[in-house]
Amino acid sequence: MSHAKTLIVAAAIAAAGSAPCGARAAEFGPQNPFYAPSTVPFHAPPFDRIKDEDYQPAIEAGMAQQLAEMERIANDVAPPTFANTFVAMERSGQLLNRALAAFRCVSEANTNPTLQSTKSALAPKIAAHEDAIHLNKKLFERVAAIHARRETLKLDAESLRLVEVTYDDFVHAGANLADSDKTLLKKMNEEASTLSNDFSTRLLDATKNGAFSTAAAAELAGMSESQLSAAAEAAQRRQTAGYLIPLQNTTQQPALASLNVRATREAIFRNSLQRAERGDANDTRTDIARLAQLRAQRAKLLGYPSHAAWKLENQMAKTPQNALQFMDALVPVATAKAASEAAAIQAVIDAHKAGFALQPWDWDFYGEQVRKAKYDLDDAEIKPYFELFNVLENGVFYAANRLYGIGFKERKDIPVYQSDVRVFEVIDIDGRPLALFYCDYFKRDNKNGGAWMSSLQRPSKLLGNLPVIYNVANLPKPAAGEPALISFADVTTMFHEFGHALHGMFANTHYPTLSGTTPARDFVEFPSQFNEHWAIYPAVFNHYAHHYKTGASMPEASVEKIKRAKNFNEGYKLTELLAAAELDMQWHVLAADAPLQNPDEFEKQALIKTHLDVKAVPPRYRSSYFSHIWDSGYSAGYYAYLWTEMLNDDAYQWFEDHGGLSRANGDRFRRMILSRGNTQDLEKTYEAWRGKPPTIDAMMKYRGLNP
Ligand SMILES: [Zn+2]
Repeated sequence: MSHAKTLIVAAAIAAAGSAPCGARAAEFGPQNPFYAPSTVPFHAPPFDRIKDEDYQPAIEAGMAQQLAEMERIANDVAPPTFANTFVAMERSGQLLNRALAAFRCVSEANTNPTLQSTKSALAPKIAAHEDAIHLNKKLFERVAAIHARRETLKLDAESLRLVEVTYDDFVHAGANLADSDKTLLKKMNEEASTLSNDFSTRLLDATKNGAFSTAAAAELAGMSESQLSAAAEAAQRRQTAGYLIPLQNTTQQPALASLNVRATREAIFRNSLQRAERGDANDTRTDIARLAQLRAQRAKLLGYPSHAAWKLENQMAKTPQNALQFMDALVPVATAKAASEAAAIQAVIDAHKAGFALQPWDWDFYGEQVRKAKYDLDDAEIKPYFELFNVLENGVFYAANRLYGIGFKERKDIPVYQSDVRVFEVIDIDGRPLALFYCDYFKRDNKNGGAWMSSLQRPSKLLGNLPVIYNVANLPKPAAGEPALISFADVTTMFHEFGHALHGMFANTHYPTLSGTTPARDFVEFPSQFNEHWAIYPAVFNHYAHHYKTGASMPEASVEKIKRAKNFNEGYKLTELLAAAELDMQWHVLAADAPLQNPDEFEKQALIKTHLDVKAVPPRYRSSYFSHIWDSGYSAGYYAYLWTEMLNDDAYQWFEDHGGLSRANGDRFRRMILSRGNTQDLEKTYEAWRGKPPTIDAMMKYRGLNP
């Protein structure tokens, strides 16, 4: 599902300029709404005064300003101290942070051609800016000097953590290398980024070319009228006749669930599986083989046995071995469940006297018939009970009030970037303001897909800033005057994103770098997934699930169906995720001296080795089109989706064991987990709250995976 977007540059460390960009910076002055701190309550962005053209000069001036601040710290004639180095770095970059946070928000949630071209222009400058800090030798010498004697400085625990996290960030980026090795590292980074870019360019074309096209509507029998007309429109857009079904990112293709003609299903499926392995200009296999090797060599240069070891060092799992052990334990359960699902599907095939053995391209088609028979949940029947803003106030907010005692008051005086956005002030237990919360739920063409949370202002006691948080989603907007009725999946998305929001709002840290939603991928989805549990919790569900017209509660039979449908196809879903996560990890535990791999053979052996070579359940992504790991930052990190599922179910089990929804339980969770940010080791944070390390037991139970 969706992710919390971490504001990389909000961490003071993450910026300092390489490109002050004189011409643009010259345009920056008091007329720019970012010039001085905002006078809107909570220092929220003055969206009513900000024009599209204001962002770029403010961000470029912000980079230049932070560069100057970092230079002053690096060149300070006074010996390095915690205050003149670490605290000074935390205070730097305030103009950049406020301009960039607002820019990221609008360029993702409400974009236009001006904002898009600003984004392209800024991307390389921001990347270079971040590099410039970590490779600032004098700055790192001061950081390292304090780090070396950190134990003797009588720092409080959070300050000590700041020293360690900051130092590790520098080292992780290569600050400790000799100059010649730094040159080599830069070359490796360049080659890696070129390979990633090649991969994504090829994959984009490969995916486009992998579309299935036909002139014969009969080949698409089973599709609805609206699916067919969408396919006809897709063909027209490419100036071809007939029908076209474009490929989605994943191995399985949604169209297969409705296509009656088996040969069509097989053709679409094979297009998907082989999209980037056709031996033509769009074949990605040479790129990924070299990229895996290069990453291993770079890890060795940085002092790690593998790319995965380097990536996992600052994650909760810490080592590839821990992530692998966790996955290995899930494999037998997942594959056994998938096998029983396959048997149920085969029974349907046999009942149709179809006379063939289940193949991956049959799974969703016959699986859909199993689903209808077992869990038939009609969206039209339940949506009238889920009116969006009623779900928000009487469900999402209500659960947070019952657990944490916080209140919500709409603020119509806070300027917004689009008229659909609503703003609430969040009031703490003691009546004091805690945060601002913006929600922007309706789908728009100028909004990125999916749902996410981020912040317009990171909280910290050091800077006296309260959190300003937003949730964005793409829920269907009703016609004027009509209620916004949503599905239970959409309800779950709202709880999920609000879980991220709570993590951001409750942040109670001194330093901005350590606040709120932490950068560790295998932790950040935990509070959000955890919050999903309350959507179906009886005391919460019964409070919000009322018919929008009659006010009646949802019939018990429908509630039961919602609960049971959650576990449909869980064996398949878990197995395909595990297979992809194992492929990712196997590629990234390769040692630097391993030979260049043949991707086909490597993938085959990796799946056999991890007992995930299940014929009817291919990996969610094959190596050749796994863009998460080759070009979007999830390398050695795909396991995190499953890891946080373990955490959130294990955490919910604690609540179940301690009386469920209560203020006492909520307060303890807030104090020991949600408010902590990255102020202590994440594994220790979790264990201190839970009383023991997490296990997969609750995950097995809540996902219906127990034998
Ligand atoms: Zn998320």
